[in-house]
Amino acid sequence: MKRSYLIKPVLDDVYPVIDYGKGVYLFDMDGKKYLDAASGAVTANIGHGEPEIIEAMNQQARRVSFVYRSQFTSEAAESLAKKIADMTPGDLNWSFFVNSGSEATETAMKIAIQYWQEKGIQTKTKVLSRWVSYHGITLGALSMSGHTGRRARFVPLLEDFPVINPPYCYRCPYQLEAPSCQYACARELETAIQRIGADKIAAFIAEPVIGAAGGAIAPPEDYFKVIKQICDTHEILFIADEVMTGSGRTGEMLACTHWEITPDIVTLGKGMGAGYAPIAAAVASEKVMEPILAGTKQVMSGHTLSANPQSCAIALAVLEYIEKNKIMSQVESKGVYFKQQLEKMQSQFEFIGDIRGKGLMLGIEFVADRGTKKPYPRQALITQKMVALAKEKGLIVYPAGSGIDGVNGDSIMIAPPLTITEKEIDELIALLNETFTAFAQDFS
Ligand code: PLP
Repeated sequence: MKRSYLIKPVLDDVYPVIDYGKGVYLFDMDGKKYLDAASGAVTANIGHGEPEIIEAMNQQARRVSFVYRSQFTSEAAESLAKKIADMTPGDLNWSFFVNSGSEATETAMKIAIQYWQEKGIQTKTKVLSRWVSYHGITLGALSMSGHTGRRARFVPLLEDFPVINPPYCYRCPYQLEAPSCQYACARELETAIQRIGADKIAAFIAEPVIGAAGGAIAPPEDYFKVIKQICDTHEILFIADEVMTGSGRTGEMLACTHWEITPDIVTLGKGMGAGYAPIAAAVASEKVMEPILAGTKQVMSGHTLSANPQSCAIALAVLEYIEKNKIMSQVESKGVYFKQQLEKMQSQFEFIGDIRGKGLMLGIEFVADRGTKKPYPRQALITQKMVALAKEKGLIVYPAGSGIDGVNGDSIMIAPPLTITEKEIDELIALLNETFTAFAQDFS
């Protein structure tokens, strides 16, 4: 008989087989229960096994599961595009549906380049970005990602798009504080544009709150206003990568709304289908679509399964569920409560250096010395140890890079389903406390 293998993230690791999920919990085949404090990868925003979503899934499957976007459209895809336009600010009215966050950022990049081409400008082809960022794993998306660890193997194939520092106030490279710093890290964009030439730059892309690469690094208050102003001055489009922060994660449909910024193009993913379907989107404004509509009338991108009716029906049901149950309005207060509990733990555990984030996207950075903020040595693999200890105790947390460079530094993210109840939050905190206690005993 032929042998068969599933290629898992770490080939010789053992992964529990999940039997089923319910709400914030997952249960494996041995009956072990896990509290999913990471929503998988900040994805299962409404928890597992929600009957309304399963019903929407079944209904669409009974109608039609697949139509090819070059031949047909579907009621599900049209309704989802309408829902996204209704839920987003400004005139972000044009949705391009794809199947993953990487495809979404790559599509956004292509739309930005095409925008300038349709206006007769062929030279604007670069999409600048920040270090300590993650925009996806495909080569275009990785070119924009300032994540040294994930770039390393493919550097010869990548563009040098990351050019500026992130707004990482915990370790400010200027050793300044906002707002008196006058957002020096944002102003690096101005210098980079002058060095490279605005005539070569199509767009600038950023995550409103840095996720996988930095562990929930939220910017200081006026950071994005400065960024947007620099982009506007130099005629550079602003792309907000809201694959992780969007769809309610920070308490708004778009995290950009917190800082009163409307991007020219936005990407959604992860929580958009909440794990019930692989779906993501690049959403463009009227301004961006205008020259394309007046020109070739075709966005040069697309995948066989783009705008898949099944995925679209599911994402629509997810967004309707979030709206109907007023889930976003509870995110901020839950996040504040979480932060308070984490801060209590900080006084108990010396290795908690920084607690940060926005809404229900929270980060905890671990340090060897809280006074000097000295990170642990890389080979100590602190994040991996913390994640493994938590998992042993039935708690899933998200391993993130710290804001240092995508290789060094240790942080985890706490990003449970937005539907988590007060009682479940307390259970999560208790499990986290147990994890930190075990860590303090074993490794400190
Ligand atoms: N953009 C951001 C901000 C992300 O966090 C991710 C994934 O972590 C991506 C893009 C890529 O999404 P996907 O893994 O669905 O390709």
